[in-house]
Amino acid sequence: MLFHAFLIKYAEIAIKGKNRYMFEDALVKQMKIALSQVEGEFEVKKEQGRVYVFCPENYDFQEAVEALQKVFGIVGICPVVIYEEQGFEKLAEDVVSYMQSRYPGYEGTFKMYTRRAKKTYPMTSMEVSSELGGRILEAFPKASVDVHDPALTVSVEIREKIYVYSETIKGPGGMPVGTNGKAMLLLSGGIDSPVAGYMIAKRGVKIDAVYFHAPPYTSDRAKQKVVDLAKLVAKYSGPIRLHVVNFTDIQLYIYDQCPHEELTIIMRRYMMRIAEHFAKENGCLGLITGESIGQVASQTMQSLAATNEVCTLPVYRPVIGFDKQEIVEISKKIDTFETSILPFEDCCTIFVAKHPVTKPNLNIIHRSETKLEEKIDQLMEEALRTTEVIEIR
Ligand code: ATP
Ligand code: MG
Repeated sequence: MLFHAFLIKYAEIAIKGKNRYMFEDALVKQMKIALSQVEGEFEVKKEQGRVYVFCPENYDFQEAVEALQKVFGIVGICPVVIYEEQGFEKLAEDVVSYMQSRYPGYEGTFKMYTRRAKKTYPMTSMEVSSELGGRILEAFPKASVDVHDPALTVSVEIREKIYVYSETIKGPGGMPVGTNGKAMLLLSGGIDSPVAGYMIAKRGVKIDAVYFHAPPYTSDRAKQKVVDLAKLVAKYSGPIRLHVVNFTDIQLYIYDQCPHEELTIIMRRYMMRIAEHFAKENGCLGLITGESIGQVASQTMQSLAATNEVCTLPVYRPVIGFDKQEIVEISKKIDTFETSILPFEDCCTIFVAKHPVTKPNLNIIHRSETKLEEKIDQLMEEALRTTEVIEIR
C-alpha cells in the first residue's frame, strides 16, 4: 500500500504550554534535516496542532521511516493514506477498501476514531465513527467492535482531504535537538563517548565535539574512525562541528616532566581545559564525557574529582552509573558499536603507565603540574591554534 503522508506524534513537547511552538518548530527543522538524506522531496508541515510529512510520489518507505526514527521528539510515526473528500458514501467505501488492503479478512477487535478538523463537514465525529464502524462490520463479519481495548484503531481525520491511518511506528522519544542549548562532547574512538553524546542530544541538546589525537603515535585511521563515529551520532543529533586537536606535544611534555603514574590524570585535565576553551568559544553550556564510575583508573571517584576540578562549565556524564554491558547495548542500538570496536590505537593508551594512580591526591597533582610551567602555555596555544575543525553532517 502506498502511504501519502506520515502523521507525527509527539508527547513530551506537547505539554510545554507556551513553549509548544518553539518545540514544534525545532521538531520540524530536525525532521527536514533527517529527510533531506532520503531521496525525493518530502514536505514537513505544521497544521492545526499536528505535524505531517507529505511524501513524494516515489520514495523508499523504509528509508523514510528510519530517518524519522532518528529525530528526537517523535514518539510515534503513523503512515497515512489520503483520499479526496467526496461525501460520506465515498468515505465509507474508501475506509472499507483501506481495511481490505491492509487487513484482508480481519477477524479481531477494532475501534473507529474520527477527528473532524473541517468543521463544516455535515456529520459529527461520533456519527462518522459509528457509521463507519457499521460499514466495516458488514464487510468483515468476523470482526467486532471494542471501544475500550481494541486490537486495532482505525483513525479518520476529516480535513480538506480525508486522512486514514491505523498504525503507529515507535519513534525515539526525547526532545527535538536545539531546544536545550548546546554542549561539547569529548569524543574518543571508544564505545562510551558516542553513547554519551547520543543520550544528551536526546534531551534536545545540540552537540559539538572535540577529539584529541597524537600523530604520529596515532594514525589517520584512528582519526577517521572518530569522524565516522561523529557521522553516526550526527544522524541523531544533526550537524556536529568536530574539533580535532593535535595533542602530541602536550602529551610528550607531560611525559617528560611528570611522574608517569600521574600521566593519565594530568593529561585528562589538559583535555578538559582545551575542551572547555572550545566549548566557550562555541557557546556551549556544558561538557559531555563517556565516563562511568570505576570503569578504569582514571574514572574512580577521586580521578573524576581531579579532572572535574579544572572545569568551570558543568560536565555531563550520562553513562556515569551504567555498567559496560548496558552502554554496549545502547551503542548497538544506535549503530556505533561496530565502529567503536575497530582496533585503532587511542592517544590515551599510548602513554599509559603500568600502575596509574587510582586515588590521585589533588595537592600532589597540583605540584606535578607546576613542573609544566615553563612551556605549557605555549604548547596549549599551539594546540588551540592548529586545531582542525571538521563539519560533520
Ligand atoms: P570511551 O569512553 O569513549 O569508550 P574510553 O573508555 O577509552 O573511551 P577513557 O580513556 O576512559 O575512554 O576516557 C573517558 C572519557 O574521556 C571518554 O568517554 C571521552 O569522553 C573522553 N576522552 C578520552 N580520550 C579522548 C580523546 N582522545 N579525545 C576526546 N575525548 C576523549
Ligand atoms: Mg570509557
